[in-house]
Amino acid sequence: MPLLIAENVVKAYAGAPEAPPVLRGVSLAIAAGEFACVVGRSGSGKSTLLNILSSLLHPDAGSVRYKGRDLAAMGERERNRLRATDFSMVFQMHHLLPYLTVRENVLTPFLSSLRPVSAARKRHALDCLAKVGLADKADRLPGALSGGERQRVAIARGLVTEPAILFADEPTGSLDGDTGGQIMDILTALNAEGLTVVMVTHERAYAAMASRIIAIRDGRLAREAA
Ligand code: ADP
Ligand code: MG
Repeated sequence: MPLLIAENVVKAYAGAPEAPPVLRGVSLAIAAGEFACVVGRSGSGKSTLLNILSSLLHPDAGSVRYKGRDLAAMGERERNRLRATDFSMVFQMHHLLPYLTVRENVLTPFLSSLRPVSAARKRHALDCLAKVGLADKADRLPGALSGGERQRVAIARGLVTEPAILFADEPTGSLDGDTGGQIMDILTALNAEGLTVVMVTHERAYAAMASRIIAIRDGRLAREAA
C-alpha cells in the first residue's frame, strides 16, 4: 500500500472566489522510499499541494490518506502528533533561530514538549548534523554559517524526529548552483537510506535526480515522467 494517497484534491483560496481553484482534482500516490519531485510554473499550486499532502492545509474536496488513514478524519490532536513523529518540513528559507546554537536549533522540534530534551536526543541531534556534514559546527550560531550550511541545519532539524516523509518546498531556492547541488546530494543520500522525500523544485536538473516527477499545470497533474 502506498504511504500517502491524495484523491481528487480540490483547493481554492478564500478571497479569490471567481478565480478557478488552484488545485482542480489532483490524485497521486507516494510509495515508501520514493523521491518525488513536484514541478510546475510559479503560482501553479506546488506549495499548496505540498502543504495539503503534509497536513498543514485542508483540501476543499477530496482526501489525503496516510498509511490508510484520512487526515481530515483524524482530528487535530492526531494530526499534530503525525507532524511531530512522521512528517517533517524544509522550506525555501531555513527559519533557524539566530540566538540558538546549531545543535539547539536542530532540537527545536522538541522544545514545545512538556518534558526536558533527553540526553539521547541531544546526542541524536549530533548524528543528524553528521548526516548533513555539520557535526563540527554544532556549537556555532547560525550567523556564523553560510547559506547552504544553514539550509543543511534545517534538514538536520527535519531529521531529528526520525520522520517517515520529508517534505521540502524549494529547499534550494535561495542558494546558488553549487550549494543547491550539495543539498540535493544530501537529500539523495537520505533517500537512499530509506527516507521518503517529496520535494518542490523549479530546477529541472534537480527534478531529474528524483525517482519520480509530478508536474502540475492548470490545477491538474500534467504528466508523470519517470
Ligand atoms: P507555487 O508554489 O506553485 O508557486 P502556490 O501553491 O504558492 O504556487 O500558489 C498557487 C496560487 O494560489 C497562486 O496564484 C497564489 O497566488 C495563490 N495563493 C497561494 N496561497 C494563497 C493564500 N493564502 N491566499 C490566496 N491565494 C493564495
Ligand atoms: Mg511555492
